[in-house]
Amino acid sequence: MTGETPLISARQLGAVFDVSKPWLNRMLALEAKQYLTAVDMVDIDIPKGKTFALVGESGSGKSTIGRMIVGLQKPTSGQVLIDGEDFFAISSEKKKMAMRRRIQMIFQSPYASLNPRWRVRHIIGEPIRAFDLLPASEVDGRVAELLDQVGLAKSDGEKFPHEFSGGQRQRIAIARALASNPEFIVCDEPTSALDVSVQSQVLNLMKSLQRELGLTYLFISHDLSVIRYMADEIGVLYLGRLVEVADRDTLFDKPRHPYTRMLMDAAPHIDAFGRTAEIVKGEIPDPINKPSGCSFHPRCTLTEEICRRDRPEVREFGTEKARVACHLCAD
Ligand code: SF4
Repeated sequence: MTGETPLISARQLGAVFDVSKPWLNRMLALEAKQYLTAVDMVDIDIPKGKTFALVGESGSGKSTIGRMIVGLQKPTSGQVLIDGEDFFAISSEKKKMAMRRRIQMIFQSPYASLNPRWRVRHIIGEPIRAFDLLPASEVDGRVAELLDQVGLAKSDGEKFPHEFSGGQRQRIAIARALASNPEFIVCDEPTSALDVSVQSQVLNLMKSLQRELGLTYLFISHDLSVIRYMADEIGVLYLGRLVEVADRDTLFDKPRHPYTRMLMDAAPHIDAFGRTAEIVKGEIPDPINKPSGCSFHPRCTLTEEICRRDRPEVREFGTEKARVACHLCAD
């Protein structure tokens, strides 16, 4: 996707958390402070109208990146650029609010993300009122339009969230996200809590809304089949670091990083008895004490001395310009 102007960029984005024990405990045990690097120098560019997907095991830093890009969490280092403007450097509250309107988030759990005491028309209308987008007399009409856009009826606006199924609740969450007329939506595992049959309906809805409204997505998932269906470009995260970035076809046709290949081998498949089996190879190391050099080296089958010693830099490969952080990758 080179050459296209990104709507959203992350530049050298980093998140470090202080995970130290309380002061007195540390003093008694003579322990130093401890820090966890959840996100490590991440660079992402997402052109307008495209979907960039982040994939990795749980604890890889996917959601932390999503929260920083949507402005919910301040990065420890680096920048989030929206149309080239550094979001966290904006001092004017009015300008910040205008930026926030352009960015929304859809969360994993359609149960926890909707206020159970509010009627659906109130939930969906809330961003319209918060950003003062329409006169009060026009809000209900706009809510009815949004309900229709996500495949629900106007009368559903009178109900409460508990009266809906999981898939319908996620449709309500999507309608609420659309209510502020956003350009960019961070979708954090939006279908992983849903049944497989409902998953595809929600994914199809998100794709058609993207085409219709020109939306740009950051799509976060641990499920490679979902990623393959949704993404234009994919970033593979391991312990907070992007170890491979490539367009969808390149990544699936020619995965270059040993971790990407391991994720693909570990994708659920049907075993000889017709059951779904998952191959898990090794455990994610302690993120507070990451392995030296390439942090994937304890799980990698190709490890050499250089892998234990030096951190691999990101290099470009092939005409597709796949970016891979591995000492031994040679195209
Ligand atoms: Fe494996 Fe070495 Fe490449 Fe890391 S740098 S992924 S340990 S081959």
